[in-house]
Amino acid sequence: MTERVRVPIDLGERSYEVVVGERLLEHSADILSPIVAGRRVFVVTDEVVRARHLHRLAPVLGEVASGYETVLIPLGERTKSFAQLEVLLNRLLDLGMDRRSVLLALGGGVVGDVAGFAAALFMRGVDFVQVPTTLMSQVDSAVGGKNAINTRHGKNLIGTFHQPRAVLNDVTVLHSLPRRELVAGYGEIVKYGLIRGERVFSWLEQHGPAALALDEQAPQQALIEAVRMGCETKGDIVAADERDQGRRAIINLGHTFAHAIETEVGYGALLHGEAVAAGLAAAAALSAKLGYCETALVERLRRHLGAVGLPERIAALATQRNWDPAALMAHMAHDKKTVGGRVAFVLLRGVGEPFVDNTVPEAAVLTVLAEECSRHNADTRR
Ligand code: MG
Repeated sequence: MTERVRVPIDLGERSYEVVVGERLLEHSADILSPIVAGRRVFVVTDEVVRARHLHRLAPVLGEVASGYETVLIPLGERTKSFAQLEVLLNRLLDLGMDRRSVLLALGGGVVGDVAGFAAALFMRGVDFVQVPTTLMSQVDSAVGGKNAINTRHGKNLIGTFHQPRAVLNDVTVLHSLPRRELVAGYGEIVKYGLIRGERVFSWLEQHGPAALALDEQAPQQALIEAVRMGCETKGDIVAADERDQGRRAIINLGHTFAHAIETEVGYGALLHGEAVAAGLAAAAALSAKLGYCETALVERLRRHLGAVGLPERIAALATQRNWDPAALMAHMAHDKKTVGGRVAFVLLRGVGEPFVDNTVPEAAVLTVLAEECSRHNADTRR
């Protein structure tokens, strides 16, 4: 048997497990059987993921389900739209899906979001399984039951909470990811380490590079542990605040900055995890600037980000842009996480001590942004 670990997500009658391991796709009969036995499965995926991974999962579905169909959705973020959701739902109806059927999302964050939303809506909700194929989706979007599409008013404003029945995180699929995408996904894992505390963060400092080395010959313990830790952290926060009323906000550590960065460069120029990494550094720098934590924490975080190949400040992001702190500031003011007109930041009193602060003076944010955006600072630290 291949190595696997289980992370319980404790949500009462909506509880489920995230299973993390190697070669799970072909060894998932025992996980899927209780959910899909005697039922039809509708696999929602995209053409790239289907070509790479479906042949590994198909024999298991053939064995445990009463039948399965594959439905392709287009590649890319533009698929998260009302139009594509409608196409998908009608396609599922055409194929004879009914309320006893199970919808299985095989793919990255876009597939998980669109399939999860479709599962919530189809005949008012059907059972749903997440099989995420990127590091980012394995540790973030596939866990917690949130799904959403984009509209002309912004990203992820229309969606539901619909928990999966199981999440299968096969780390073997990560071997086929582009290096840049794998490393970007690790940005969210660094975030979880900062949220969790000293023991976890120093484990990441020690083992993060090995987790990302993806040596096909060696066992994947470090990667499995990094993914497990990410899912456990997300799961614990979600269990405490399933519908995002308060505590869940700390998951947004680094994201107020990251969303502003993404808005400024336009979608697709940077990977989300890269913006998150620069955002984490900015959030730590702002925490230090306001006297909540030591500057040593900021330097330590930058060292770890740099050690795994993530940008350690906004100026280090892979664009040729001259960053404008005032423009980033303006984007933050429009962020949906704004509460009562003031921008809410997740700050750190130390590793493992995140908190939400919506009283941060604009001048402090601008000062930190100017420092994080400065190429001079980026160059002199190398
Ligand atoms: Mg994120």
